[in-house]
Amino acid sequence: MPAYQQVKQQQQQATPVASIEIMQHKVTILESRLPETAIPLWLIDCPALYDRAGNPYVNEMGHSWPDNAERFALFCHAIVSIALDNAQLEWQPDILHCNDWHTGLACALLENETVRPKTIFTIHNLAYQGLFSREDFLALKLPEYLWSFESIEYNGQMSFIKAGIVYADRVTTVSPTYAREIQTPQYGAGLHELLKYHAGKLSGIINGVNEEEWNPAADKKIASNYSANNIENKQNNKLSLQKEFGLAADLQAPLFSVVSRLAEQKGIDLILSIINEIVDNQAQLIILGAGEKQMESAFLAAAKMYPNNIAVNIGYNEKLAHKITAAADFFLMPSRYEPCGLNQMYSQRYGTIPVVRRTGGLADTVIDSNDKDHTDNHTGIVFDEDSREGLSGAFKQALVLFSNPSIFKKIMINGMQQDFSWKKSALAYIDLYKT
Ligand code: ADP
Repeated sequence: MPAYQQVKQQQQQATPVASIEIMQHKVTILESRLPETAIPLWLIDCPALYDRAGNPYVNEMGHSWPDNAERFALFCHAIVSIALDNAQLEWQPDILHCNDWHTGLACALLENETVRPKTIFTIHNLAYQGLFSREDFLALKLPEYLWSFESIEYNGQMSFIKAGIVYADRVTTVSPTYAREIQTPQYGAGLHELLKYHAGKLSGIINGVNEEEWNPAADKKIASNYSANNIENKQNNKLSLQKEFGLAADLQAPLFSVVSRLAEQKGIDLILSIINEIVDNQAQLIILGAGEKQMESAFLAAAKMYPNNIAVNIGYNEKLAHKITAAADFFLMPSRYEPCGLNQMYSQRYGTIPVVRRTGGLADTVIDSNDKDHTDNHTGIVFDEDSREGLSGAFKQALVLFSNPSIFKKIMINGMQQDFSWKKSALAYIDLYKT
């Protein structure tokens, strides 16, 4: 990975193992280990491009770094150099697995090499495509044949994600449903025809979750530990959080929760549209999130108007995310699209019933309580319609479940027994690597 400033600070023991020149920059390869493993980690150190404050992709104002084309083209050249054993590391991979647009160009640059690793390109979110101008393309001195409709040109721009999709030997996404959805105009972000064309090499593998970090039996961040065997203890978490947020400490009030970026993608406006219904039904809602200012203010206003029912924390807070996941009865995730999604899996591990829209990874990991094909294995509530009515119907379904303790408990326990391990996902990747 690029030697971003924060990575370098955390990896001070990394040692230089090679030095190469790329695009007129002197680039050092630093060697370290992935934390708590023996797996080598190579950091591509080019201070002029990566050693800067802010996040890897955007500056402190939240705008893309103006030199992102150069930053990630250089990174791709470094990948290619390692992949072809040209980087003095005396090692060549069998498979190069690239993630997201930042690495897409590496697949294109390897295309014509005779002795090269096989390439896999994984799309985590198709909305982010790495689009740059013709001027950027020229400045990168890429071969002119890449500038074509069949290659990386996209509507007069250079598309890094297209480079990955067109040239990788295999393309994956982070859930099987998202892999199908992105071949349709609704979800394809302008690339559905291209993805349909490449359907033969496209598949989806769901992400796993960190089962140590998200384990209600051992989680130190929550008030009271519990498992499927002593699920009653979950209620201590509910009471504790209701008190912390100044809501009525009432086990009979169904507690809904949200931990999310506040963005249109996540269907947050749909949640805002059912606030009155939540209040009218004496339910409670706790929201933890940050993002679009308009949504933040709308939740703050709702919490002010209905302090007994609605509570909000604007910000990013991992400890609180754990406490909410442990405390709530239901977790709301009405996403418009969701490549994989993690919270619906965390909540199932915590016996918190997810209420999700049937899209992407949500459709693949939650079984609706009305699903007649899986009568013994319901794990949540799944609705179809991307509208207030859709979420409202799911909310009513949740209230019915809550009023039926034996079915409610069965669904909680079903969720807790699901296998969302990385082991399962890793086996699927190994199968793919073998093809
Ligand atoms: P996305 O990557 O699209 O934001 P995911 O569900 O795949 O959505 O992953 C989001 C991750 O970030 C989850 O682990 C979620 O718990 C966490 N998260 C999102 N917002 C917050 C927040 N405000 N505080 C703490 N954790 C958050």
